[in-house]
Amino acid sequence: MIYRCFITGLLVIATGCIPAQYMPQFDQATLQVRRNEIANQAERKPHDIKEDPNIVLSRVYERLLPHAKVACLENGEKWLDSSCSNWSLKVVDDENFNAYITPTGDITFHSEVFKYTKSDDEIAFILAHEMSHHILNHGMEDIVNSEIMGATTGLLYGILVGAIAAGLGASDDIIDDVIEDAVEDGYASGREAGRLSYSVDQESEADRLGLKLVQLADYDWLAARQVVMFIGKDSTELRSDRSSSHPSGPERLAAFDSYSSASSRELNPLVGCIMGNCVNGNGTYIWADGRKYEGNWADDKVNGHGTYFFPDGRKFVGQFQAGKINGQGVFESPNGHKYDGEYQDNKRHGWGTYRWPEGHKYVGEFKDDEKHGEGTLTYPDGRVVQGQWDNGKFLAD
Ligand SMILES: [Zn+2]
Repeated sequence: MIYRCFITGLLVIATGCIPAQYMPQFDQATLQVRRNEIANQAERKPHDIKEDPNIVLSRVYERLLPHAKVACLENGEKWLDSSCSNWSLKVVDDENFNAYITPTGDITFHSEVFKYTKSDDEIAFILAHEMSHHILNHGMEDIVNSEIMGATTGLLYGILVGAIAAGLGASDDIIDDVIEDAVEDGYASGREAGRLSYSVDQESEADRLGLKLVQLADYDWLAARQVVMFIGKDSTELRSDRSSSHPSGPERLAAFDSYSSASSRELNPLVGCIMGNCVNGNGTYIWADGRKYEGNWADDKVNGHGTYFFPDGRKFVGQFQAGKINGQGVFESPNGHKYDGEYQDNKRHGWGTYRWPEGHKYVGEFKDDEKHGEGTLTYPDGRVVQGQWDNGKFLAD
């Protein structure tokens, strides 16, 4: 399993798809100031955990969630599989200060985090940082790149080690075990080797979005800065180098400061008209519950051609009139339902084709969302029922 980590970060990958550099570049003096600040911060001592970490974590999660969902929508294709709302949380007993997220959105916090953090505001930044890796699709980059680099390296390495074991006269069973272990080891090393080159950028990008999320959720962003200082205490090199899995402390703090001064000047709302003209013209609008519309507007209402996205992955592309679906359009849901046809006031109405995930298909007339009038229903096995329908019920052929 591949993790994105807050502190120790195992890293990514490879050649081939190098993303744009993200970490800003700072001069020596700027970094030196941060290094001093990190060195002079008050030492943190572990404290007793007063409140169940699971409760703390879910409380913070609930407050970040609406903003994280919208950020998910803004950041491309993630919303499509509705993974934007499926993060899971877990706290495990572990004495390393760390938190990480899997590519599928499972977030783990080590208990140690709760002994060294001072407030929900600090936890919020760590959690928002992990969610940001997911929102920004860093996990997918890891998987794709690991498959390119890691798998190839692992396989070669495994075959090589297997050959050595066979040469030593090991039994077939043992050789198989040896190969399996070696493939895993090789996979891990290939993965790490490739990943090193841009994890610093991914970490910094996750800090930036994490900061934005805590600000939108109205957490104290200065607490986030304290966290960046604390985790920077062990890495005081002025700059990260190509082999770094995470940004150096001073560099990370300088980047954080550049993000916070920029965002306090213009904290772009993630809700509302995020692009274009959403009154009269063409614009993209995001609602607080995660719905999103891209297309034409008239008199402050969706009107003309557009695409409407639902947070659960359903999508409609077609004609709108005065705020409602009216005219021709295609509706699709992630679980395989599809309607292509006429609408009236948000309902299937007129002529259309409806397909079910199991393979049924109805072609014919609709009224108020139901089969109504002339129509043909085809079953997955090829049987056809043709005739008259009345509010969804088959009357006669
Ligand atoms: Zn991270």
